[in-house]
Amino acid sequence: MIFHFLPESIWVPIAFILITGHFTSISASLYLHRSITHKGVEFAAPVSFLMRMWLWLATGMSTKEWVACHRKHHAFPDEPEDPHSPVQKGLWSVLIAGVFHYRKAVSDKEMVEKFGKGCPNDWLERNFFTKYRQYGIYLLLAINLLLFGFLWGPFVWLGQVLWMIFIGHVVNGIGHAIGYRNTEVDDHSTNIIPIGVIISGEELHNNHHSNPASPKFSRKWFEFDIGWMYISILKFLGLAKVRYSTTK
Ligand SMILES: [Zn+2]
Ligand SMILES: [Zn+2]
Repeated sequence: MIFHFLPESIWVPIAFILITGHFTSISASLYLHRSITHKGVEFAAPVSFLMRMWLWLATGMSTKEWVACHRKHHAFPDEPEDPHSPVQKGLWSVLIAGVFHYRKAVSDKEMVEKFGKGCPNDWLERNFFTKYRQYGIYLLLAINLLLFGFLWGPFVWLGQVLWMIFIGHVVNGIGHAIGYRNTEVDDHSTNIIPIGVIISGEELHNNHHSNPASPKFSRKWFEFDIGWMYISILKFLGLAKVRYSTTK
């Protein structure tokens, strides 16, 4: 009952949602996206483990399914085969119902096998993360009930589990509809805002489409990618190896 004595202060649970939500954004961007999907960076085992464990607790997602869906998006960006293109499905449909487009895409097991190659398949993945994938979010609910009690616990939990869905909807919808472009690629990707802090640098989505293998998303002097900042710190500490990056 660590914070249980503060049930009246709404700022404690809100701060907790924002801090843990930021860690969800970082884990999704650095581990799932830049490392496992595009292989641009590799993290030391304890760093990967922390991010995998948090994604298990806060999202209930399968790494292989997410990776496959995202690689298919890169293979057919804004084409009819794209799982969640606002050009094909409409911006509001992706913003409001993106999770359903995602579920529909990953229900195609052949697609998941085809695009999900090279995902972690170690003992932990097979016997824990994949086997018990749906239990993580229930454990997180129990932790929140212990920390915040029955009033704020479910509120914090809801904020945490909806966080990843919200990021996905914003990047997949707005990141292909609204913003500016540095590179004229064959899709409608945009940089939503030049300062990539709120969703860990994923705001710079046009830059990412122009060079998906690079784990550095900022290109211009006025752009900032907080995800790249974390990678640089981890690299300095000997906890990350950058496989490839560009400053173009
Ligand atoms: Zn995209
Ligand atoms: Zn990508």
